[in-house]
Amino acid sequence: MAKQRLVILGGGESGVGTALLGKEKGFDVFVSDKGKIKEKYKDVLIHNEIEWEDEKHSEKKILNAHMVMKSPGIPDKAPLVKTIREKGILVVSEIEFAAQYTSATIIGITGSNGKTTTATLAHHILKQKLEVGLAGNIGDSFAKQILEKDYPNYVLEISSFQLDDIVDFKPHIAVITNITPDHLDRYDYKFENYIASKFRITMNQTKDDYLIYDADDEIINNHLKEYPIQSQLLPFSLTKTIENGAYLKDNNIIITIDNNQMIMPTTNLALEGKHNIKNAMAASTAAHLLKIRKQTIRECLENFQGVEHRLEHVLKINKVQYINDSKATNVNSTYYALESMDAPTVWIVGGVDKGNNYEELFPFVNEKVKAIICLGVDNEKLFNTFSNMVDVIIETQFMSEAVKIAYKIAEAGDTVLLSPACASFDLFENYEDRGRQFKNAVRNL
Ligand code: ADP
Repeated sequence: MAKQRLVILGGGESGVGTALLGKEKGFDVFVSDKGKIKEKYKDVLIHNEIEWEDEKHSEKKILNAHMVMKSPGIPDKAPLVKTIREKGILVVSEIEFAAQYTSATIIGITGSNGKTTTATLAHHILKQKLEVGLAGNIGDSFAKQILEKDYPNYVLEISSFQLDDIVDFKPHIAVITNITPDHLDRYDYKFENYIASKFRITMNQTKDDYLIYDADDEIINNHLKEYPIQSQLLPFSLTKTIENGAYLKDNNIIITIDNNQMIMPTTNLALEGKHNIKNAMAASTAAHLLKIRKQTIRECLENFQGVEHRLEHVLKINKVQYINDSKATNVNSTYYALESMDAPTVWIVGGVDKGNNYEELFPFVNEKVKAIICLGVDNEKLFNTFSNMVDVIIETQFMSEAVKIAYKIAEAGDTVLLSPACASFDLFENYEDRGRQFKNAVRNL
């Protein structure tokens, strides 16, 4: 029988992972990337004798496919994708493709903010007692992991783009951390399309599956009211009492599942900030559901080291704490960063403004921020927005200079916080590069 032809659009982490798994499963694989494929991925394709092309799409070859795996970065609006669909060829995401080849229990985590933190924390807890992989938007692709070692359990960080092209995929436990407007350019500028995309994580779930979600998020609540789902609901909340799920009472996290209750004082949490109480609730509810011992969960919440570039404590110099929150690429994440500050703060902010509305930050800026250092192409807007709220506001185009200025301004007991609320592509390769440059500059002080 002739081999099924699998065409992969995009030769990045998920594309190359799918190519390897596809080849192993007997597909005739072809990888096509309109841009340049990175050398490290080219080497893998060549070494595994997988056919590929870059800087072009050979349409005839592509339209010959039985199935197309579309990498998350490629929008549905791309003319080639439209043509593929018009021809009736099945288009799937990497998560959909890979999940067919594992019978693992999957904990799938999506949301606008907090995915990586919640997924890493859940993995940290679960791995104490279970064999569990961590994949999706983190580290190695899901497909590659299944090929290398198929774990009986996976924690997957899943973006809306991955969810857009699922067909049968379902997690046993789904988590939606929160939903705020993001990536609207990919959703016809309609927030409801983006919300629907996030909820696809539940679309194949049955009554034996679970959805853990933020019950303080009105967007999520409204959607659930309008479109009830099959799975069992395990909400978490900072503000209301939750009978089945997690909530906060007198600085204790209380998690109840089928009358089995566990308690964890928030003062013992390793991660700071209200948003991290939510992330801890989501991850521990999943762990409690999977019958991890309560003591183990508590210990893991106490010793979790956090994730690089997310409110990461870098150094204390002359009693000034330096914090790297470079991953805060939108206003909502900076909101939580500023909220969690309990010392006078010198705030380094800026980059590529994505149409930001800074209003929700005003109360925190008034209350906690003593100086602002604007760093990036869109400094003017920051300057105009905040100049009458703080005594000192300075602008620069260099990270090393921003850190030196912060060092001069900050006094014992203060915090210097990099939480940009903006994308990083003006001065840096990506948010990781921005965070690393910040840390290097701090270490060089
Ligand atoms: P994601 O993977 O969804 O981008 P991360 O865990 O990497 O999320 O966190 C990104 C930023 O979002 C962090 O710097 C933090 O300030 C903020 N953040 C983390 N968790 C939450 C949450 N539950 N709600 C709102 N903001 C959050």
